Amino acid sequence: MIEIKNVSKRFGGNEVLKDVNLTLDKGDVVAILGPSGSGKTTFLRSLNFLEHADTGTLTIGGKTYDLHNASKKQIREVRRNTAFVFQHYNLFANLTALRNVTEGLVVGRGVPKAEAERIAKDALDKVGLQDRYDYYPSQLSGGQQQRVSIARAIAVNPEVILFDEPTSALDPELIGGVLSVMRGLAEGGVTMIVVTHEMRFARDVANKVVFMEHGIVVEEGAPEQIFEHAQHARTREFLQQID
Ligand code: ATP
Repeated sequence: MIEIKNVSKRFGGNEVLKDVNLTLDKGDVVAILGPSGSGKTTFLRSLNFLEHADTGTLTIGGKTYDLHNASKKQIREVRRNTAFVFQHYNLFANLTALRNVTEGLVVGRGVPKAEAERIAKDALDKVGLQDRYDYYPSQLSGGQQQRVSIARAIAVNPEVILFDEPTSALDPELIGGVLSVMRGLAEGGVTMIVVTHEMRFARDVANKVVFMEHGIVVEEGAPEQIFEHAQHARTREFLQQID
C-alpha cells in the first residue's frame, strides 16, 4: 500500500496544494484530473522530491518519509521506489535508447552491465521498441521517445510509476501508441499515478479517478462514479467542458 498524507505547498502567496491525501493499493491506476493550475503536477512532483512540499508524508515500501524534511539517503530511497515519466521524456540526447534504459540500472543501482542490458531489452520489447535499441532520441518520434522513457521506468521495477501528462506533448497520431503501452502496464498490475487530460484513459484504464481543483481533492472514486454520478457540481462542469 502507498499512503500519501497532508501534502501542502505554497509558491509565495499562492497556496497550490492544500492538504492532499491519497491511498493506493498495489496495482491501482489512479488518474488525476483537473483544470490547468489546479496543482496536479506539483502534487506528483512532490512525491518524488522534484518539488519540496511544505508538509506531507509518503508511506511506500513499508517506510514513511517526510516530504518536507527528508535526508539525501531518504530521497534516494523514495526515488528507487518510484519512477517518473515526464511530459517531455527527459532522455539523454547523447545516449541510445538502450543506454537510456541501462544507465539508471548500472549507475543508479549497480546492476552489472550484461544483466542491465538484458533487463533494458526486455523493457524496450514490452513498449514495442525491439527494433530501436541503437537509435538516438533525435532519430525517434515523440511517441517512441516517450515509450523509451516508460521502458526506463519499468526497468527499475519501482513500487509506483508517476506519469506527468505523458501524452500532452505528442502529436495526436502518436498518443494512441503510448496510451496502449500504459494500458498494457495497467493490465500487468503496475501501480501508477497518472496526471492526464486523456478522459478516455481515465475512464477505461484507471480504477480510481481523482478530480482536483485549487489545490484540493474535490472528489475521488471509481471511474463510473466520477464520470456518470459525480457528486460535486464542479466535477460535472469540468467533465462536461472536456467532453
Ligand atoms: P496543468 O494542467 O496546466 O499542467 P496543474 O494542475 O498541473 O496544471 P501545476 O503545474 O501543479 O498545475 O501548478 C499549480 C500552480 O502552481 C499554478 O498556479 C502554477 O502557476 C504554480 N506553480 C507551479 N510551479 C511553480 C513554480 N516553480 N513557481 C511558482 N509557481 C509555480
